[in-house]
Amino acid sequence: MALQTAGIHHITAFVRNAQVTVDFYSGILGLRLVKKTINFDAPEVYHLYFGDQIGSPGTIITFFPWRDSRQGRIGAGQVGTTTYVVPEGTLDFWQERLDRFDIPFAETERFGESYLQLEDPDGLRIELVARAEGANSAWSFGGVPAEKAIKGFGGAILLSAAPERTAALLEQVMGLAKVGEEGGYARYRSTADIGNLIDVNVEPVAHGSGGAGTVHHIAWRAKDDEEHARWRALVEGSGYHPTPIVDRQYFNAVYFREEGGILFEIATDPPGFARDEAPDALGEHLMLPDWYEPHRAVIEANLSPIQVRVLEGDAQ
Ligand code: ZN
Repeated sequence: MALQTAGIHHITAFVRNAQVTVDFYSGILGLRLVKKTINFDAPEVYHLYFGDQIGSPGTIITFFPWRDSRQGRIGAGQVGTTTYVVPEGTLDFWQERLDRFDIPFAETERFGESYLQLEDPDGLRIELVARAEGANSAWSFGGVPAEKAIKGFGGAILLSAAPERTAALLEQVMGLAKVGEEGGYARYRSTADIGNLIDVNVEPVAHGSGGAGTVHHIAWRAKDDEEHARWRALVEGSGYHPTPIVDRQYFNAVYFREEGGILFEIATDPPGFARDEAPDALGEHLMLPDWYEPHRAVIEANLSPIQVRVLEGDAQ
């Protein structure tokens, strides 16, 4: 049977400051910090994961905070916008919340839906859309009760340097179905009910460059290791150059660059973030893979402490 990805597994981006990132994604957006670890390829840098109550696939945004990073430029070859889905009828709540924290936003429409578009502190483009589909988050934090909380990703806007090639990849390899074209975007749907609506530019756009405020890669879901191996073979057989399978502790990963310049990853749903911490204690301690554990003292000394905290605007 042909493979079809359920949708987005996670999105990974570059930022500058770990605490500023925690205050925005947990303090304001109400996401749970589900894992505090390090960049396995650069252990002097945190790798922070935010998601729903357990960091379900389709809800996870991850960050590498590089203090001295240059500012990136959003453009072709990247995910241009990360879309979050909130429960129906809650966009007013979110507008008031953004106002309270002095976060500018624009109201836009696409494919008949209303979006609140904003930027995170480093300039990463985020948008909120309200939909019935997708389970509510069970996580409440600060001023965001679970019934109004972000459910996970609604999808993403991909900015491709070769839109027809990216479209062909999504349809013919990743197993998404084209569901419309409007306002300069083609829309594709995957099988899950979150992380499932992917918009791709139809016309060329200016090239981006990596750095703070840009997405590094987008990961797609594989349901288990057996399917993951089939995905790798399919990607390779379709003319791409996937990496070997890499152990990322909370999932296994393969990466490949698609022809529109965007770095794709395919990641397994299991084992997830409760692999090394109890579900009620996720994100509380710095977790290291076994091969870094002997170096914990040095690694911890190099990282500035961070804290998930209720912000002043919610404390009154
Ligand atoms: Zn990744």
